Amino acid sequence: MAELTLDNVSKFFDDGGSKVVAVDDASMEIQDGEFLVLVGPSGCGKSTTLRMIAGLESVSEGEIRLGDERMDNRPPRDRNIAMVFQSYALYPHMTVRGNMRFGLEESTEMADGEIDRVVTETAEMLDIGELLDRKPGELSGGQQQRVALGRAIVRDPAVFLMDEPLSNLDAKLRSQMRTELQRLQEELGVTTVYVTHDQTEAMTMGDRIAILDDGELQQVATPLEAYHEPANQFVAGFIGEPSMNFFEMEVDDGTLVGDAFSYELSGETKAAVGDQSHVTLGIRPEDIELGGSAATHTYETTVDVVEPMGNENAVYLGFESTDSTFVATTGGMRRISSGQRISAHFPEDAIHLFDSA
Ligand code: ADP
Repeated sequence: MAELTLDNVSKFFDDGGSKVVAVDDASMEIQDGEFLVLVGPSGCGKSTTLRMIAGLESVSEGEIRLGDERMDNRPPRDRNIAMVFQSYALYPHMTVRGNMRFGLEESTEMADGEIDRVVTETAEMLDIGELLDRKPGELSGGQQQRVALGRAIVRDPAVFLMDEPLSNLDAKLRSQMRTELQRLQEELGVTTVYVTHDQTEAMTMGDRIAILDDGELQQVATPLEAYHEPANQFVAGFIGEPSMNFFEMEVDDGTLVGDAFSYELSGETKAAVGDQSHVTLGIRPEDIELGGSAATHTYETTVDVVEPMGNENAVYLGFESTDSTFVATTGGMRRISSGQRISAHFPEDAIHLFDSA
């Protein structure tokens, strides 16, 4: 086992004469045994990154290493990596046992009896021991997903690569499989790179998450770091649900002046702004305090819409002076209704400041 390193990796495609930069100079180190989630919107380069690690795409620039050994110039079968796809990619004419044996028969010198033992053990670990003689067509989506995982696990690879492996499952099963996958990965201790576009999945599963936008790596951090200390406005807006609110502000001698409200800075936040003339003020919906009586950084607003979200409400609010709106979350038991006037407090220790775009 060893750590997986991407060193200034880029991928360029030629799209009918024009150059597409799918991955732009990405560097990261994935620790031995770590669960790293690559996350970002559709088209940001997640799959391409994973496919380069797998060897299904060549690397245009840079290097990929496993431990000290360079691997981007090796064929996929010599990389000691197992990949699990969204589509499961099972052979329909083979039984579960056949599907799980297949990779081992192809790639190892293991004796037949040994292969059987590993397949049976793994199937039991995944709770599909009873299904070994069935064919994929006779299994539910969740069971097929387990077979696909099992096929990866039996190969005992140095790295698992997973491309949206849960996205074909319904919400309940997906959340159950998330937990199970995490437990399994921890138990096996195999370095894992997991791709998803779903920030909730990334936040709940990753030891660390790598956030990509438009081919560029924005931040590699633990979920908590990315949430509390986002590297930039993109990360801040991408992580968290509902998204962080942003307000464009002018800086006037230590006070932020926006269309709807002004915000006086003190101490640290004032120093952070430095001599910039414009900044973007960000605040998470859950950090806004509604209906209180704080003396500063408190604004009169009107409730537009209240959207129940299980144990809390998303409250959409507007300022009187402008059309700009924002969202705050509150405990679900609290009675707030459309048209109601309410104060909104933006605590200074909860605000984020970003360079204006
Ligand atoms: P994601 O997995 O984040 O949705 P991808 O890695 O699939 O994104 O794609 C990243 C970018 O590279 C996209 O703009 C996509 O259109 C482009 N791309 C991917 N594969 C090819 C290809 N074979 N030829 C040309 N462009 C491609």
